[in-house]
Amino acid sequence: MINLLDLTRTELETFCTQELGLPRFRAEQLWQWMWQKGVADFDAMTNIAKPLREALKEKCEVRWPEIEKTQVSEDGTTKFLFRMQDGKRIESVIIPMHDRYSQCLSTQAGCAMGCTFCNTGLMGFERNLTHGEILGQVLAARKHLEDNDLPPLKNLVFMGMGEPLLNLDTLLRVLGTLPDTKGLNISWRRSMVSTVGFPDQLRTLGDSEMALPAISLHAPNQALREQIMPKAARFHIDDLVAALRAYPMRPRERITIEYLLLGGVNDRPEHARELATLLSGLRCKVNLISYNATEDMPYHAPSREDAEAFQNILKQKGMTAFIRRSMGADIAAACGQLKADQAK
Ligand code: SAH
Ligand code: SF4
Repeated sequence: MINLLDLTRTELETFCTQELGLPRFRAEQLWQWMWQKGVADFDAMTNIAKPLREALKEKCEVRWPEIEKTQVSEDGTTKFLFRMQDGKRIESVIIPMHDRYSQCLSTQAGCAMGCTFCNTGLMGFERNLTHGEILGQVLAARKHLEDNDLPPLKNLVFMGMGEPLLNLDTLLRVLGTLPDTKGLNISWRRSMVSTVGFPDQLRTLGDSEMALPAISLHAPNQALREQIMPKAARFHIDDLVAALRAYPMRPRERITIEYLLLGGVNDRPEHARELATLLSGLRCKVNLISYNATEDMPYHAPSREDAEAFQNILKQKGMTAFIRRSMGADIAAACGQLKADQAK
């Protein structure tokens, strides 16, 4: 049975007019119920007459991913474990930021890239998430915030489980749905898509003008990148940086470079200097992320001094660099700690 959340607004219009023989305004009503009001039950859609509601129930449904577990961290960061209809599990995290929340969305169950430091990578690839499964995470988080009188959800990043650019068609449809003013209405600036970076897909994303990339670079040269993220490094670092230099950006926009500091591996002063040279002239800011240690991984976090020394070298070279605070570490909700196997 078709889940109406899997359709974009245009696709919903086509479905309503062609499959159900309904006038177009019905699609708009349904859209508003589903995305603006967060209603999943046809019987609660009061401006739709009963016979039509019954007809809808026979042909389609509005199915949210089921929340299997909610964990709230001391700092307010909240991790949801979702179960999809086929039993696959994914996680999404909401992070408090002053008067608002930011949500980190998953785009795949598991991930094929197998980066050597990442829990999701260890799971291997399960499957791509659909339009409704990605945005269902938003619907569920928004409801959780409303139900608990918490500040609204205002910011989305595609930084959860999976590689968003390997689910690109769906990602682009999702990005198109976000700003709809009769729907989710999340649009005040371009969303951030975190990716290890594939040159061709980056070009498509850039052409769409709907998102800015955050590139998980994590190494200043090809050899080191091959060592820590072998599959991602199949695309040469020079081709990746060339694609970034060509990325279309408006004034004041910048690409985010994510650099995971792995103690003793890529956090030496010479790595910082090499990174500054690699990125010289690129409109970017560098986020230095401290590795979140998890069991069974051959890495450890960098020392505070080493992280600061790394940042200072980048700054001396005229770059913008931040050391990013990791939220939700006590509930394993921080970057790269997402692995959806605990409920088995
Ligand atoms: N696949 C995408 C998005 C999901 S991973 C990507 O790799 O960009 C989100 C971020 O978490 C990436 O920058 C990733 O490198 C980082 N990450 C993975 N494992 C981590 C860990 N153990 N500690 C800190 N960050 C980690
Ligand atoms: Fe996949 Fe990103 Fe984890 Fe690498 S860091 S395995 S690309 S989720």
